Amino acid sequence: MDPRAQVSMVFHLDKCIGCHTCSVACKNIWTDREGAEYMWWNNVETKPGTGYPTRWEDQERYKGGFEQHGDELRLKLQGRMGALANLFFNPYLPTVDEYYEPFDYDYEKLFSAPEGDDQPAVRAKSMISGEYMEIEAGPNWDDDLGGSPVYAKNDPNLEHLTEEERRSLNEIERMVFFYLPRICNHCANPGCVAACPAGAIYKRGEDGIVLIGQDKCRAWRMCISGCPYKKPYFNWKTGKSEKCILCYPRLESGQPPACFHSCVGRIRYLGVLLYDADQIRSAAGAPNERLVDAQREMVLNPFDEQVVMRAKQNGISDDMIEAAQNSPVYKFFKQWKVALPLHPEFRTLPMLFYVPPLQPVQAAIHEVTGAYEIEGTGAAGMAPQFNLILEKARVPIRYLASLFAAGNETLIEDVLKKLVAVRMFKRWQTVVDLKHEEVEQALAYAGMTPEEAEAIFRLTSLPTYEERFVVPPLKREQSIESTRAPLTQKREAGFTRFPGSQKEPARGW
Ligand code: SF4
Ligand code: SF4
Repeated sequence: MDPRAQVSMVFHLDKCIGCHTCSVACKNIWTDREGAEYMWWNNVETKPGTGYPTRWEDQERYKGGFEQHGDELRLKLQGRMGALANLFFNPYLPTVDEYYEPFDYDYEKLFSAPEGDDQPAVRAKSMISGEYMEIEAGPNWDDDLGGSPVYAKNDPNLEHLTEEERRSLNEIERMVFFYLPRICNHCANPGCVAACPAGAIYKRGEDGIVLIGQDKCRAWRMCISGCPYKKPYFNWKTGKSEKCILCYPRLESGQPPACFHSCVGRIRYLGVLLYDADQIRSAAGAPNERLVDAQREMVLNPFDEQVVMRAKQNGISDDMIEAAQNSPVYKFFKQWKVALPLHPEFRTLPMLFYVPPLQPVQAAIHEVTGAYEIEGTGAAGMAPQFNLILEKARVPIRYLASLFAAGNETLIEDVLKKLVAVRMFKRWQTVVDLKHEEVEQALAYAGMTPEEAEAIFRLTSLPTYEERFVVPPLKREQSIESTRAPLTQKREAGFTRFPGSQKEPARGW
């Protein structure tokens, strides 16, 4: 066992209102400068939709992430040699058109236009050429229109749906969309790190944040191809790649990342996970249907004495261990199993997780529980009702399974059953239009206790800032100290590996 600490996030998608405040907060702090105009380290997409850059999920086009070849886990970009062969011409990089041509408006004209009969109007100007331009795309071009057939039909996840499911997504009165905020996933097996020929990218030992060393970057741009989420970006001004840094300077002073802090829907939860680096290889190489479970097994129980002892030996501080014990991410992902990684089949072990959206369901609950008598006793009696509720979910299970479970529909059903059961439980408590037996059976069928339902409700709906942000101020100086200490001193302190050495497992194969 080789415990490592990871600062990790959960996004509760039922709470996201698609306001883009997170994107703007991030943009203002980090990418409001020359060379970075087109970059959105945090972006919010409408799903179904094509996202930013367009169709980033299509790895036949972009060749991001890893794939299993027999016993070997290889970059889809064909390993180091394949990357080297494409150093001078990489056909898998997104083009400017696949991002968008960044633009601004000629606001000056509003003030300087001569007096006339018409209101002055502003025109868009390219931030690359400075010329006037017609806008044809943007980072959230299909915002709120994802559900319409014009945009949704190009979403790669729809390829897994039946013709009928695709049609029903666009039916009037059933048309549906939801928002998907995305930042770098600070993966445990990062494709960007493995693809970089210059060794410029590293995963910080003390908190798992993935960073690009600007002094080492040689502009090969293989990180952009290697990342299946397309989260490193090339800065044309500096000639270096850059990416989300999880606001580490803010975290080091006890502040949460800007996207988290500004989130209007309070959909974000930030906490610490302890995970076993010895399991990275097996978790990343697990069969598709086992990928999420294998990643859950990789996350260690922070209350286990053995885990705590080994974590301390690895130099993980007491306050990080305590944070892991109070982590909202641990609860959502490991304990309650209602959060899932985005596209686990890319095999980078993304360390940010999503609670999938339930969508309008209350009417379905009422319709179903009102129309059907409960058959049988115990949990089994609830099965037909729940199956009907899940069938009535507007976003097909298969679509969510493609996004969050490598196609494993059972995982999505298990999450949605829990979310439905929590709503039934609270409705029974507050509105009293459901029968006690119905709720009891619903909880049993979803495999949860009333206490768990209450805890999920509490952390979903009423969390305080302190419950959503459970990360101690990161102590960079201590980590640097520990790497500088003489070897004998480190041995005496019981270090087996040193903070900062976390590159090793990701690059080994
Ligand atoms: S999402 Fe993962 S692979 Fe992509 S840049 Fe972030 S750490 Fe690297
Ligand atoms: S600020 Fe929060 S609610 Fe608004 S789009 Fe971003 S994640 Fe969603």
